[in-house]
Amino acid sequence: MRYFPVFADLDGAEVLVVGGGEQAAQKVRLLRKTRARITVVAEAAGEELRRLADECALLLLPRRFLPRDLDGHRLVFAASGDRVTDAAVFRAARARGIPVNVVDAPKLSTFITPAILDRAPVTVAIATEGAAPILAREIKTRLEAILPANFGRLAERAQALRATLAKAVPDVRARRRLWQRLLQGPFRRAVLRGADEEAGRILADELGADDESAARRNAGSVVLIGCGPGDPDLLTLKALQRLQEADVLVIDRLVDARVLEYARRDAERVFVGKTPGGPTTSQAEIDRILVREAKAGKVVARLKGGDPFVFGRAAEEMAAVQAAGVAVEVVPGVTAAHACAARIGLPLTLRERVRQFSVVTGTTADGEPDLDWNALAAPGSAFAVYMGVANAPLLRRNLLAAGADPDTPVVIVENGTLASERAVATTLADLTDGIASLSVASPAVIFVGLDWAEAGLCRPQSVIAHHRRRSEAAVVRPNQHDDTVTLEATP
Ligand code: SAH
Repeated sequence: MRYFPVFADLDGAEVLVVGGGEQAAQKVRLLRKTRARITVVAEAAGEELRRLADECALLLLPRRFLPRDLDGHRLVFAASGDRVTDAAVFRAARARGIPVNVVDAPKLSTFITPAILDRAPVTVAIATEGAAPILAREIKTRLEAILPANFGRLAERAQALRATLAKAVPDVRARRRLWQRLLQGPFRRAVLRGADEEAGRILADELGADDESAARRNAGSVVLIGCGPGDPDLLTLKALQRLQEADVLVIDRLVDARVLEYARRDAERVFVGKTPGGPTTSQAEIDRILVREAKAGKVVARLKGGDPFVFGRAAEEMAAVQAAGVAVEVVPGVTAAHACAARIGLPLTLRERVRQFSVVTGTTADGEPDLDWNALAAPGSAFAVYMGVANAPLLRRNLLAAGADPDTPVVIVENGTLASERAVATTLADLTDGIASLSVASPAVIFVGLDWAEAGLCRPQSVIAHHRRRSEAAVVRPNQHDDTVTLEATP
């Protein structure tokens, strides 16, 4: 970040605009949203600026710029359209230490003006450091659509309520939750609709002195949030909202650091990573942390990789939390198999062909998964193995022993949606060898019984094909331009 965003207080401040054309008029229009005292210096000012001068909305000095014009000014805009004049304004302002913006000349500016979305008192400023102003405008257009025109009214109402709420609900966390309920629920809708009486009634209910209202204000809760496989773009809108509301984050190892950027900066963070071979927090300890924090009146977000209900031990945590009488909510996430399949364009079911798709675990508490090998080995069976890398030899052996075709297609996606993502296509016979020779490591999803050809699709170029030929191991890469393949002997 080269430009640091700040909002300048221009209430009653003297601001100078040099120039009298359309660009100067644009700056004046923006400045007139504030209560700045505007002076325009221009040898020739356009009609709009002259009219504003007549209405005493600004002071017009009809002559060329002189450095002493800057005296006493808090900001200056150079929009004369004349390079020499603008450069003179820049030099004079810099010498006096006055922030200066020369229109369309970032090198001659000590500040730049962003695209502005005005819902005063809510103001959104968007800038791209000059890289692509069109993107700033796109963001502005999207925000225009999200924030209703009378959004500022809601902010004004909130402003008027601040003192009342601070007195009525002294506890900071309870107050934050109350704000959240007011600004996101029926109160907000009533204010935006202009139904002030109804808004008043809702507010009175929320501030009630009875035990029930007080208990509602002080109760903590737990939300299990599915954070997807890594890429934060795969978070759901609900996950984003809940992340913003949380007082405490209890974070799994597989949750990507980028996801945490979406949480409140002042939220406490507890890492309960189960790093293979590293420090581990036991499930009982995690359950205890969730209950303890919620009982202290906090909103606890339990962040899990993928979806909480897919090999996520969500049931145990929910049971512990419910047993303690604390409310628990689950927010689904994109599970690893779905995200990995999408990355490599591999359909998980196919009309008339693959009618059933399962997810299985390659690891259990005692290490050896006890799966229905006969069902998994049957023709037409398709499944994704989670936590299967370490036990891949066992998977392969048991599936082949149960009669699976050695040529059954296998696709492995390692670190799906992360920068280090790799995908390998091989067969059941070559599964173990593929993992060993390419050093595939956890986290990875192993898809068995699914293939692009079956779906009438082509294997993407990014997917490495691994086939062991007789005794010699080889990595096969598709050639860019034809169907031939290149064989590279692996070490
Ligand atoms: N609840 C998670 C699964 C947790 S079990 C979910 O729904 O995705 C952990 C296993 O998930 C890993 O061993 C691996 O098999 C899979 N996994 C998680 N993140 C992954 C990723 N980014 N790429 C590939 N596999 C992943």
